[in-house]
Amino acid sequence: MAKIHFDEERAAFTPILAMEEASRCLLCLDAPCSKMCPAGTDPAQFIRSLRFKNVKGAAKTIRENNPLGGVCARVCPTEHYCEQGCSRSGIDRPIDIARLQRYATDMEAAFGLELVKPGPSNGKKVAVVGGGPAGLTAAAMLARSGCQVTVFEKQGKAGGYCRYGIPSYRLPEAVLDQEIAHIEALGVKISHFAPANEVDELRKHYDAVVVADGLGEAKTLPLFEDNPYTMTAIDFLAKAKQGEIPDVRHVLVIGGGDVAMDVATTCKKAGIEQVSDVVYETLSEFKASKAELEGARNAGVSIYDGFVPSGVKKNVVTFLHRKAEITMTLEADLIVLAVGQQRLPSQLGEPTDRDNIFYCGDIVEGDKTVVCAVKTGKEAAARALAYLGGDQQ
Ligand SMILES: Cc1cc2nc3c(=O)[nH]c(=O)nc-3n(C[C@H](O)[C@H](O)[C@H](O)COP(=O)(O)OP(=O)(O)OC[C@H]3O[C@@H](n4cnc5c(N)ncnc54)[C@H](O)[C@@H]3O)c2cc1C
Ligand code: SF4
Repeated sequence: MAKIHFDEERAAFTPILAMEEASRCLLCLDAPCSKMCPAGTDPAQFIRSLRFKNVKGAAKTIRENNPLGGVCARVCPTEHYCEQGCSRSGIDRPIDIARLQRYATDMEAAFGLELVKPGPSNGKKVAVVGGGPAGLTAAAMLARSGCQVTVFEKQGKAGGYCRYGIPSYRLPEAVLDQEIAHIEALGVKISHFAPANEVDELRKHYDAVVVADGLGEAKTLPLFEDNPYTMTAIDFLAKAKQGEIPDVRHVLVIGGGDVAMDVATTCKKAGIEQVSDVVYETLSEFKASKAELEGARNAGVSIYDGFVPSGVKKNVVTFLHRKAEITMTLEADLIVLAVGQQRLPSQLGEPTDRDNIFYCGDIVEGDKTVVCAVKTGKEAAARALAYLGGDQQ
C-alpha cells in the first residue's frame, strides 16, 4: 500500500485575474445565471460586487445563501447549473462563476470574516441526523433562525462524501474544515461517532428532527460477489483520502459516472501504470461531468465505452459490447466497481416528511450533487421552522 498526498489541482484566481473575469460579465438585466443556482445564490450580484472591488459584499451574498459556498465553488458541475445560463457563452465562453465564488470565499477565510450570525434563541431544540452537506446546511439555517441544533454524525468527522469521497486534488479538506468551523460558530453542536438508530426515539427528545443520512452503501454487481480482486469505489476513495493507494500495476474501473472518474484519475495521479475504465454507456450518453471526463482522459485513463461485463474468472473480466459484436477481455490486479450508491437499511424512516421529521439530501428526489444537498437542506430547515412556528433567516 503506497501513501500518497494530493494538493488542490486547479489554480485560484489572483486578485487581478478575478477582476478581469468579473469584468467579462455582461451585467444582464434579468441575469439567467441567477435562476440556475440550486442553492439560490445570485451569481450576478456577487460578480457585480467583485467588479466594484467589494469582496466582502460578494462573500456575504454567497455565505448568506450557502453555508458550503467554498466547497460548491470547487465541486459544482456548473455546466448544468449557473454557467449553463450565462449569456456570455453566446460570445465566447461562460464567466467562470465557480472560480469567482472560490476567490470570494477564499478571501473571506483569509480575512477571518464572520458574515452570518446566529439568531436570538427561539427555545426550540432540533436534532439533525447526518453531518454531510445536507445535514450541515439544515443545521446552519436552523441555528441562524435561533434553534439549538445538535448534529449526530456516525463518522469521526463531519462532511459526508465531501470528506470521505471527493478526492482532495478537487476539494482540499481544509476548505471543508473552514466551512464547518463557520457552522459551529453559529452554535451548532456536532456529535461525532454518534450514529442515530431510531428516528422515533429521537423525535421524543427534540422539537423537530432533520434526517440526512445519505446513500452510504455502494451498489455491486452479482457477477463480482465474493470476488477477492474486487472492491467498491466508495471503499477505494475513502482509503485514498487517508493516503492509501494499492500498490498494483493495472486497475480496472467499472462505471461511467463522476465517482468512476474520481477512482480512475486518482489511480493515475498516484502513478498506477495502467488504468482502464469500462463504461456501460457509449460516449454520447456519458453520465460523468465534462470536467471529470476530461480530467480522466488527460491523466491517461483508457476508456472503453458501451461494454457490459459478461463473465469473471478471478481477475480476468470478459465484456460484451452493447451495440456491436465485440468481446473484450481484461486482466487486472484490482477491479473497482463504481456502479452507484444506495441508502443503508436503518430505522430512520422512508424519506417523506411526517409529524416533526423532515428529510433532505441524496435520500430525497433530485440531483445527487453537493449543491442540491444544500438546496434540500435549506428547504428541510424551512419546513421544520414552519412547523415550529418560526421563519428562516
Ligand atoms: C466519490 C464521489 C464524488 C462526488 N463528486 C461530486 C462532485 O464533484 N460534485 C457534486 O456536486 N457532488 C459530488 N458527489 C455527490 C455528493 O457528494 C453528494 O450528493 C452529497 O454529499 C450528498 O450529501 P448528503 O448530506 O445527502 O449525504 P452524504 O454526503 O452521504 O452525508 C451523509 C452523512 O450522514 C452520516 N450518517 C449516515 N447514517 C447515519 C446515522 N444513522 N447516524 C448518524 N450519521 C449518519 C454519514 O456518515 C455522512 O456523514 C460525489 C459523491 C461521491 C461519492
Ligand atoms: S453554488 Fe454552484 S451552482 Fe450555485 S452559483 Fe455557486 S458554483 Fe454556481
